[in-house]
Amino acid sequence: MDGMTPDLSGEAFRQHARDWLRDNVPAGFLADRPGYQPPNLAQCLDWEAAMHRAGLAGITWPKAYGGHGRTLREHLIANQEIGRMAIPESVGSIGKELAGPIILAIGTEEQKRRYLPAILEMREMWCQGFSEPEAGSDLAGLRTRAVKDGDGWRITGQKIWTSGAAKAKRCLLLARTGTVEDRHKGLALFAVPMDTPGIRVVPIQEINQKGSFCEVFFDDVRVEPEDTLGKPDEGWNAAIRVLSIERATNRMYRAWRFENELKHLIAACKQDEALRPLLEDGNYRQRIAATVTDIEMVKGHVEPVVEALVAGQSIGARGSLMKLHWSEAHQRFAALAIEMIGQASPDAPSFVMAAQKRFQEIYLQARAETIYAGTTEIQLGIIADRVLQLPKGK
Ligand SMILES: Cc1cc2nc3c(=O)[nH]c(=O)nc-3n(C[C@H](O)[C@H](O)[C@H](O)COP(=O)(O)OP(=O)(O)OC[C@H]3O[C@@H](n4cnc5c(N)ncnc54)[C@H](O)[C@@H]3O)c2cc1C
Repeated sequence: MDGMTPDLSGEAFRQHARDWLRDNVPAGFLADRPGYQPPNLAQCLDWEAAMHRAGLAGITWPKAYGGHGRTLREHLIANQEIGRMAIPESVGSIGKELAGPIILAIGTEEQKRRYLPAILEMREMWCQGFSEPEAGSDLAGLRTRAVKDGDGWRITGQKIWTSGAAKAKRCLLLARTGTVEDRHKGLALFAVPMDTPGIRVVPIQEINQKGSFCEVFFDDVRVEPEDTLGKPDEGWNAAIRVLSIERATNRMYRAWRFENELKHLIAACKQDEALRPLLEDGNYRQRIAATVTDIEMVKGHVEPVVEALVAGQSIGARGSLMKLHWSEAHQRFAALAIEMIGQASPDAPSFVMAAQKRFQEIYLQARAETIYAGTTEIQLGIIADRVLQLPKGK
C-alpha cells in the first residue's frame, strides 16, 4: 500500500486520505475547478486503481483478497474525503460495492481469490443483471431461466437497464432455477463472463448521452460451475442483501459530494453579476438553507448505519430511509441549481460556464436517482411495512 503504515487509523487515516487525494488527483479531474476535462474510461480505471493502491478502495476487504483489512469507519472517513472533492464518479462501483460484498458473503474461497483482486485493481468491471422488462420493482417476477446443464447451467432471457454492460467483463446475474410462480424461491446468482457465446449487449440511448444503459440478451448461455455463486436457491436472499447494501453503503461519499456541489453553486453565483443578487433573494436563500439541512440529514443517516454495521447489527430498513432522503433531496437541489445557474449572464466568467455544464449533468442524472436501487414508492412501502409496521396496503 503506497506510503501507508498498518496501524494508521482514525484521524491519521483521514489525514493520509486528504493528503493523498490533494497530491494525486490528476490535473483536470475536478469538476469544480477551471480546466476541468471529463476523463475517459482508461483514465478513470487508472485513477481508481491508484486509489486502491493508496488504501482508499477495498478498505474493509480482507488482505488475502487484495483489500486493506480496515474497518467500515475508515471506509466512511475515506468516503468523506473523496466526497469533498469533485472527482469523477466511480466506474467500478458495481464490482466494489455490489458484487464484491456478495462474493465475500457467499462465494467460495477460490472465487474470492479469483474475482476480488481483479475488481480492486480495476482489471474487471462488473455489471448488475437484475432488472428485466417485466421485473423491476417486482424483482421476484423475473423470468430469465437457468437450466441445469451437466455440472453447469444454461441461461436464456433478457435483462434491461444494465448499467455499464458494454464495458463490463462480468455480470452479476440473477436468474430463475424454478418456475415464475415460485417467486422468491428458486433464484440463483451467477458471475457470468460477458464474452461468453450467446450474450448480446444492446446500448440504450440516454438523455445525458452517456450510453451506459444496455439491454442484455442471453441465448442458451453456458455458465461453468465455478461461476455459480452460492446455492441454486440462495439467489433471492443474496439479492436482497445486495440491494440493502446498495441502499445503505453504496457511494457512501454522496452526502459530502452533495455539500461540494452546493458550495460550488454558491461560489459560481458569487462570480457573476447576474447571479450574485440571487444569493440575496429570500426565495433562493430559503431553498439553499433547506439544502444545507437536507445535507446534514443525509450525513445523519450514514454515520449511525456505519456504527450499527461496525457493531455487527442488522441495519434493517435504514438503507431505505437514507436512499429515499438522499435521492429526493438531491433531485430538489438539482432543480434549484439549474434554476439559479440558468440565469447567468451570457458573458459570465468561464468558472460560471463550467458550473453551468456540471449542474446540467447533475440535473439530468438526478432524474434517475429516485428510480435506481429501488424507486421512491418502493422505499416508502418498505418504510411503511418494516419501520412503521402499518397494516399491508390493498
Ligand atoms: C440510472 C439507472 C441505473 C440502473 N442500473 C441498473 C443496473 O445496473 N442493473 C439492474 O438490474 N437494474 C438497473 N436499473 C433498473 C432499476 O433497478 C429499475 O428501474 C427500478 O427497480 C424500477 O423498476 P422499473 O424500471 O421496471 O419500474 P416499475 O417497477 O415498472 O415501476 C414503474 C412505476 O411504478 C411504481 N411502482 C411499482 N411497484 C409499486 C408498488 N408496489 N407500490 C407503489 N408504486 C409502485 C414505481 O415506483 C414506478 O414509479 C437502473 C435504473 C436506473 C434509472
